[in-house]
Amino acid sequence: MNTPISKKINIQKVDKSRIDQVDFDKLVFGNVFSDHMFECDFKDGVWQNPTIKAYGPLTISPAAKVFHYGQAVFEGMKAFKDEEDKVWLFRPDQNAKRINKSAARLAIPEFPEDLFFEALTTLVSMDREWVRKGPGNSLYIRPFVFATQAGVGASPSTEYKFMILMSPAQAYYTGDIQVEIAEHYSRSANGGVGAAKAAGNYAAQFFPTNLARERGFQQIIWTDASTHEYLEEAGTMNVFFRVNDTLLTAPISDRILDGVTRKSVIDLAKRDNIAVEERRVLVSEIVEAAKNGSLKEIFGAGTAAVISPISAFSFQNKTYEIEKQEDSFAAKFKKELTDIQRNLSEDPFGWRFEVV
Ligand SMILES: *Cc1c(COP(=O)(O)O)cnc(C)c1O
Repeated sequence: MNTPISKKINIQKVDKSRIDQVDFDKLVFGNVFSDHMFECDFKDGVWQNPTIKAYGPLTISPAAKVFHYGQAVFEGMKAFKDEEDKVWLFRPDQNAKRINKSAARLAIPEFPEDLFFEALTTLVSMDREWVRKGPGNSLYIRPFVFATQAGVGASPSTEYKFMILMSPAQAYYTGDIQVEIAEHYSRSANGGVGAAKAAGNYAAQFFPTNLARERGFQQIIWTDASTHEYLEEAGTMNVFFRVNDTLLTAPISDRILDGVTRKSVIDLAKRDNIAVEERRVLVSEIVEAAKNGSLKEIFGAGTAAVISPISAFSFQNKTYEIEKQEDSFAAKFKKELTDIQRNLSEDPFGWRFEVV
């Protein structure tokens, strides 16, 4: 159910854009923000005062519940500009729904979908200069909600702030990544919050990921918390395994984030007559496939990097290298996805959404 909206969006445009101060060729992912941001408060049971104003700091009580109990969820999506200066979003309906699924799990009130769309499209339209065209360029969009009620009582906040920030991004080249398969730490558990984009899920991964980095691996592929026998997903990416010509990926559950890139790859694979199995994938079967040569590829799928090829994985202190494929599925899906996103190909699934 949508909570009532008390008012239309109040727009306070900046006098002068900061865009001239930005070197678009030297962007570090997520460090520079566009001129405007969206802000809306939940108070007295109603989302109110939706406002677009200059990007800048907030004043919040140090007792705000988000600082003490971590009641916060977020989303990640992108806007693209085509050669004719048209601006496109990719499957934004998925993010509008998912932020509310995440919110529900953290006892945060749902944000009205129509207001989400109005805020998003107005903001992107106002800052459309910040969406650069050309391969790899995009505007990364970060909607988020957090608890603002002042009080250290351990109970759900009665007040929240919903915001949207936007950050220009260049191609996110991670290079080929080497990953470690989790044997001790866990990302999520049965009945937990793994399926939500909850802020704390990411904080909890930093320490084990740092340990993996010290051993020369950039990421961890998490396994199920109870047995560590089944492969699940990576930090902010779902993971696909190509065994011979079949794609394997873990099924969505309350431990796994239902990624938009993941479901898009599955739809493209089906269209391209590539067999896909959404099922539990054993670590042992992937180790076996690596040994007998049938493991052709592993890749991550997520909004930031789109597709990230994984060139090696480590399990029980043994590293297994994966040879480069001529007919790489990772490269194929990356091209198919980014061509749809940038209006360079047909959009048979109706995934593009134009911002006017
Ligand atoms: C965001 C995220 C993904 C990828 O989701 P997309 O919608 O494709 O960006 C996958 N796993 C986790 C844990 C994530 O947070």
